[in-house]
Formats: sequence, C-alpha cells, structure tokens
Amino acid sequence: MAQTSLLEPQPPRKRVAVLLPLPFPCPLDYAAPPALADSLPPGAIVSVPLGGRRETGVVWDQTPLPPDLTPPPPPEIADSRLRAVSTLVDAPPMPEMLRRFIDWVAAYTLAPPGMVLAMALRPHLLGTQAGPRSGWAAAPTLPEGLRMTPARRSVLAALEEESPLSGAELARRAGVGAAVIRGLADAGALLAALLGPIAPFAAPNPDHNPPVLSGAQDVAATALRALTREHRFSATLLEGVTGSGKTEIYLEAVAECIAAGRQALVLLPEIALSAQWMERFARRFGVTPATWHSEIGQRARRLTWNAVGDGSAGVVVGARSALFLPFRDLGLIIVDEEHETTFKQEEGVTYNARDMAVVRARLANAPVILASATPSLETLNNVETGRYGHLVLPSRHGGAAMPTTRLIDMRMAPPPRGRFLSPALIDEIGSTLARGEQAMLFLNRRGYAPLTLCRACGQRMECPHCTSWLVEHRKRKILCCHHCDYRQPIPETCPQCGAEHSLTAIGPGIERITEEAEETFPNARVLVMASDTVGGPAAIAEAVERIAQRDIDLIVGTQIVAKGWHFPHLTTVGVVDADLGLGGADLRAGERTIQLLHQVAGRAGRAEAPGRVLLQSYAPEHPVMEALVSGDFRTFMEEEARQRQPGFWPPFGRLAALIVSSENPEAALDTARRLGRAAPEAPGIEVLGPAPAPLGLLRGRHRHRLLLRTRRAIAVQPILRQWLAKVKISAGVRVDLDVDPVSFL
Ligand code: ADP
Ligand code: ZN
Repeated sequence: MAQTSLLEPQPPRKRVAVLLPLPFPCPLDYAAPPALADSLPPGAIVSVPLGGRRETGVVWDQTPLPPDLTPPPPPEIADSRLRAVSTLVDAPPMPEMLRRFIDWVAAYTLAPPGMVLAMALRPHLLGTQAGPRSGWAAAPTLPEGLRMTPARRSVLAALEEESPLSGAELARRAGVGAAVIRGLADAGALLAALLGPIAPFAAPNPDHNPPVLSGAQDVAATALRALTREHRFSATLLEGVTGSGKTEIYLEAVAECIAAGRQALVLLPEIALSAQWMERFARRFGVTPATWHSEIGQRARRLTWNAVGDGSAGVVVGARSALFLPFRDLGLIIVDEEHETTFKQEEGVTYNARDMAVVRARLANAPVILASATPSLETLNNVETGRYGHLVLPSRHGGAAMPTTRLIDMRMAPPPRGRFLSPALIDEIGSTLARGEQAMLFLNRRGYAPLTLCRACGQRMECPHCTSWLVEHRKRKILCCHHCDYRQPIPETCPQCGAEHSLTAIGPGIERITEEAEETFPNARVLVMASDTVGGPAAIAEAVERIAQRDIDLIVGTQIVAKGWHFPHLTTVGVVDADLGLGGADLRAGERTIQLLHQVAGRAGRAEAPGRVLLQSYAPEHPVMEALVSGDFRTFMEEEARQRQPGFWPPFGRLAALIVSSENPEAALDTARRLGRAAPEAPGIEVLGPAPAPLGLLRGRHRHRLLLRTRRAIAVQPILRQWLAKVKISAGVRVDLDVDPVSFL
C-alpha cells in the first residue's frame, strides 16, 4: 500500500488568510505561529510581514455570497513560501457583520476587497483605547497661603459653575492659559477628578421630549416603531413633502431602537451642513449624537470609533463612510434625502451609500428607512414591486401650506443685457422685503461667471488639464477649474490674440447674482452661501443662526441652501436659472432637476406666512417645469418610468460604466477600442461605446467610456469580470469600473 517516504513530509502548517488594506485581489495566506495558533479567529487584527515592511490586516474567512457575486478562488501558496503572522494587535476583533459587509461591497462594486477594508480599518485608530478621562476639581479646602491672582480667581470661579472640567475646557471658560491651571494644581488648589462620558456618547434618552404627532404622522411613526422593534430586515420609503415631519417621524424609530438597547445610524447627505439637525436631535433626546465625517478631528475620530465598537455610542450621524464603522449591535439605519447623488462615492471604491445601507441593514437584520420628498425612481420602483414598504406624509405640519410656484418665461420678459434677474422676479423680491420677510435667490453655480471669452478673437479660457472652461472668481481675482482646482490670475490681455481688456465674463455665477442683487436692493442685508465662501460647519451654523434671527433679508446661494434648512421667515424663493441642470446627456437630468428645485422651493413658507417660488426659465413648457408648477411629482416620475422602461434603463435594467483613462491619448484610445472589440455578446446584454467621455480630459488624463447595459435579471459583475480578463490593459492605462453609475461625465 502506501510507501513510506524517506523524507517524511512536514505536517502542514496552520494557515490563516489575512486581508490587508491594499489593492490585492484577495486575502493573503500566512502561517499561524504556534504561540498564536489559538488566538487568530476570523476578525482578529494582526500585524504581518509584507515585502520588507509590516502591515496591519484582519484575519479573514470566506463569506458565502450570491453566485453572481462570488469571486474566483485565490491561487494556492505552498507551505514553504508562507510567512508567519508577526503579532496579534491589541484591539477588539472586527465584527463578523462588518466583515460580511466588506466582502459584499467589494463583490458588488468589483473593487479589491482590501480597498474596501481600507475604509473600515484605520490602523491609527487601533490599540489606543481611550481610558477614562480626567479633569480638574477645586480642592475642598484651599491650601493655606495660596497666592491669589485674578487669573487664579477666575479658574476657581469657573469650577464653582461646573465641576469637574477638562483642562482645556477649564482654560477656555476661565480665559487663562494652561500654566495657570498647572500652577494651581502644583499648589494643591486643584485635584484631578474623573470626568463623565463625553457628550456625544452619553446615552440619548428616548423619552426626553417626544413630539405630539398628527394623524398621518402618528400612523407612520407607529409603523416604523413596530418595524424597529422586530429586529429583522425591512426597507421602508418614508415619503412626505418638505416640512411634513419626516425627520420628526424617523427620530421616533431611533427612539425605539435606543429603547431596545441597540445602535442607530443616520446617514445625511451633507453632514457638514447639519447644524440644525443636531439641535433637533438634542431637543428630542437630551444629548448630541456621535458624528462621523471627514471634518472631525483625530481625537474625536478615535473616541468615536471606539465608542461605536464597544456600543457606548448609541446613535451615530454620519456621511456615507459611517457605514463602515464597527457597530456592535446595529438596530436601525436611516438614509435621509435618499435621492441625493452625494451618497454616491465617485473616487476610489465607487459605491452608492444608499444602496449599501440596504445591504448593511440586511446583514444586520435591521430595518432601513429611506426618507425623501422626491424619492428616486429606483426607490419608487422598489416600492412598486413590493420590495420596500411605503409610508406617506401628505401635508406640511401645523397647517403650513405648500408654496405656490410660478414660471417666469424669460423669452417674454427678459432682463436687460448683462443682467440676470427678470423684472417679475425683482418685483416679487421687492415686495417680500417690503413686508419684512426674507427672500432667497438660488443658482447652482459658484464663482462670478462660468465662461470668460475674448471679445476680439473669440478665444475661450479653458483648463489646460480638463475639458472645461475656467470659472471666474472675481473676488479672489482668479480663473479656476471646478474639476481639478487649477487656478490662474485673470489675465489683462487675451493669451491668444493679445488684445487688451477684451476678456468678458459670460453668464452668471452666484457672485455676479450677488452683485446684481446688491445693486437692485441696496438696503437689503445680503448673505452669500456657497460651499467655497461660507467656511466650515461652524461658520455655516452661524450663518443659519443669523438667518433665523432675521439679521439677513436676502440669501443668495448654491445648492447648500437647499439642504433641509428650516427658515421660518423665508417666504420667497427665486430660481435664477431653472433650466441649468437639464442640458447634457445625463439619464437622470430631469429627475435630478426636479429633486433639487423641489427641495429649494421647500425652503419657502415653512411657518405661517405663505411661500412663493419663482422659476426663471427659457423652456417653461418642459415637463420638469410643468411638474414643478403643478406640484405633481408623482405623474412626472410615472412618465420618467415609462420612458426608461422600453430601453431597459435603470431601474428596469442594470448599468455599469468602464472609464478608460491615460495620460497618453493613444494608449487610452487603444485600450478602449480593444475593450470594445472584446465586448460581451449575449441576449439581454448590450455595450455602448467606446466613446470619448464628455469630460474627455480630466486632470491631464484622456478618457473614454463604455457602458454595459443588461436586463434587470442579469448581474453585471460576472460579465465585467470575464470581459476584463480577456483584455490586456496597456501600461499607464487605468480602467475604472462604476457599477450603477450616476455620473456619465
Ligand atoms: P421634513 O423632514 O419632512 O422636512 P421636519 O421633520 O423637518 O419635516 O418638520 C418640519 C418642521 O415642523 C420642523 O420644524 C419640525 O420640528 C416641525 N414639526 C413637524 N412635526 C411636528 C410635530 N408633530 N410637533 C411639533 N413640531 C413638528
Ligand atoms: Zn481642470
């Protein structure tokens, strides 16, 4: 029978797969050293050798995925080539639910799993468990002979108001430097004292200040509370006009989740603009929630990360990346303004946080609530087919009426040359201000003018690195590319023909509208709100406060003014260019325009005084304009659906984009063509392109696009995998995959 070999084979080494936050196609195998063999379960965070350095990774196990999404098995590595795990990192293991989620997102977006892990594992946050914090309290009796100074007195006075306080807070309140506090401590006048939990991690109280709900609100809240209690997956669209109380209602689901001892995650499209939201949360629950977005500081980030992991953060409000936090017991996810395109991440791993929130909820056996006044066609379709539940709040809270919307036909009564506000709009704003109410002008374009043109030779000022015009920012005296941020001073002479003072601003940006508004309404106190002028979250909160306090008469803003604000004194909204979003070849141009303008309009007349919205348009007969006037969003979306159905456009089919780019134009074109020739052919599958991208040049890279479109029943992932395996990508060429694209630029 079996022959005994002279060289007895070594017993196989115990191996573990380790996923590293790097763009490898799969986890790498390592040997488990005997000393660690029993302490490397899936999820354990480990340090491993890689080339000549060390990397932090996670012990990985195989996730069962739907067959369409299952990646091919990784190649085997011989025992003899295995390197050993170096150390076990002293940090809580990554929860299974998060590991499953990472695998899912990677398989769906076709991103390397390690790149998805990189969003979830931030090694610098590990191993630094924040111990209890300590601060200062006054000693019960002051030491004899303590020398008193005004600064020292002020420290002790601050501690009489509240004690204990952290060193930083004490210094701030007393208006003294750290040295004064140290001096008092050295003299024995201050004693170290443990501080309570920091505010964002104090437990929200679900019974702190519950609202009194109206009939439809009560029905919706009761339903959402029941779903939240069940602790199983469900998806529900909460649809209601602006000001109907959607926020109020989903906070009731959050209350239920907290009461059940589980954690809730609320995704907001623009967390930096959420000052009013935070206030409302605090009013409802007595504490502020934990937040997670790119602008929180390093220390807050570490504390939040750990508090989410150990369950002490009950509610997290965050941007899309909050989906990758290590929740201990996630019981509810809310996606507010679910139709917003900012939920789609376009750089790195391209994923739609709204859709991945649904996946995350399913993995956590938790309900997800999608809230919107203008739900996306995708979500409406999920309601129609019964995949999602549907709750509706039909009217504004407290009897406030919806604003009336009127079109101004710019062909009939245009503004004078070089001006952009029509007589009708100026009239309406004038009488609004005369009544002591507030008005808003909306234009979704930053800067002074979108195009600078030479009157002598017709030369247009373009970005040297992108297919785009340079936008003039007059206050900053620059021309700027809004795609790559290239800047140059505004030239005095035309760079093409040398003519002097011939460069002319064409078209309006927000800066130019502000100039016109200030000339037209010289007594109005004007506030400009655009992402590049208003500053950080604190500055935005302050601006919002000034509006609420009626320190402002006229707001001029880009899309950041549309975001969910509640300005009770604002009654008139003027949309400077309602047609702006309708150009271009975007599949969802109409849907998006209506969503944005409806949201802007929703800022008007939220309290007693009725609101009015004026839309300046050169195409007033466009279905989008008609729907905005009638308020009949539903009929418009039904028509959209009818138009998308025959061509199997989403949501009736699936899309994936391939973006081929290179600094070398020939290489990009060549790869794009070869991809085109290798395009899959089968019933229900179609490939459009290759074609030069509308943004044919972006940050110096030449770009071509291909678009894969399939019937809904056909998954795009296996097709893309096989397709790409057939084509050799030339050096210096990148192919970015975008499953479910929202941008077609
Ligand atoms: P939406 O999210 O649908 O725009 P909100 O939840 O922001 O609506 O509600 C609009 C305004 O009405 C907010 O100021 C909110 O506090 C108030 N509101 C809504 N419902 C109630 C209620 N039941 N009791 C008290 N105030 C309410
Ligand atoms: Zn550019």
